[in-house]
Amino acid sequence: MVVVIKKNTDEEQLNNLKEWLKSFGVDIHESHGEYETVLGLIGDTSHIDTDLLSSLSIIESVTRISEPFKAANRKFHPDDTVIEVAGLKIGGGNFQYIAGPCSVESEEQITYIAKEVKKAGAAFLRGGAFKPRTSPYAFQGMRAEGLRLLEEAKEQTGMPIVTEIMDISHLELFENVDVIQVGARNMQNFELLKELGHTNKPILLKRGLAATIQELLMSAEYIMAGGNDKVILCERGIRTFETYTRNTMDISAIALLKEKTHLPVIADPSHAAGFSRLVKPLALAATAAGADGIMIEVHNDPAHALCDGPQALTPEQFSDVVSDCNSIRDILNK
Ligand code: PEP
Ligand code: MN
Repeated sequence: MVVVIKKNTDEEQLNNLKEWLKSFGVDIHESHGEYETVLGLIGDTSHIDTDLLSSLSIIESVTRISEPFKAANRKFHPDDTVIEVAGLKIGGGNFQYIAGPCSVESEEQITYIAKEVKKAGAAFLRGGAFKPRTSPYAFQGMRAEGLRLLEEAKEQTGMPIVTEIMDISHLELFENVDVIQVGARNMQNFELLKELGHTNKPILLKRGLAATIQELLMSAEYIMAGGNDKVILCERGIRTFETYTRNTMDISAIALLKEKTHLPVIADPSHAAGFSRLVKPLALAATAAGADGIMIEVHNDPAHALCDGPQALTPEQFSDVVSDCNSIRDILNK
């Protein structure tokens, strides 16, 4: 249920109202916008008499939310959520590039790529240490050592790091990670999501291979229900009948998510395309559709990458994508 409070309501009246609402056993999410205060009620609201509530002098409107996602719902929080990581903002008009290799392969590789993508305009460094691979015989990532090398690259460049967690038992290894990624394959690993809801780290939640937009939002809700509001959603392509691309980039999901939720929404054209030559057009389309950021896989030597080489851009190609995406951003901001 969403309760909009009239402008200029004094604090005491608002507090009395909140106490009364809490007596029904609901949780209250409070959002103070420029023009209004919104109370989002989560829990069983069936005992609250909406007619009585609407009749109170300080109430502007009362609406029951039919969607199953509440905390992530834009109706609960009309303004965009801005997530700040190491002084960098994402969401609410703040756009960021996240770039780096699919997997951390060596100290030289990760620090070289970090420096190159930083020069090209990336704010965040990505790199997988724990890799979800389809084959158990494929490179599984450098694991704890990979995290250490990411930290090293962060120290050398000052770039905050984004890397994927696959198992909650690894959480303590992620202490110095700035943004924890939940990959497509784990989008509905509900126990993992619940535990991440108890951390205060920003979570980059990727859309599952066959997940609907509502299922993605429900996964965000799992994290938020635990008290962690710092969720960044990521469209990375979904599986369709098309075989020319690795996945099908759902551009409409970007525009639609921005409508349904206040959370920042970024796009990963690399995993959608599967081929480096398609990464740029998809990045431009995602930017034009209103994404709050772009995550791109970049490798110094794509032909010899241990994972996802065919979709990796060279630092030069990445720089070209950044420059054209910035031009799109300029048009949008006019
Ligand atoms: C990745 O970001 O390297 C990755 C494995 O992505 P996804 O979960 O989207 O496949
Ligand atoms: Mn990858």
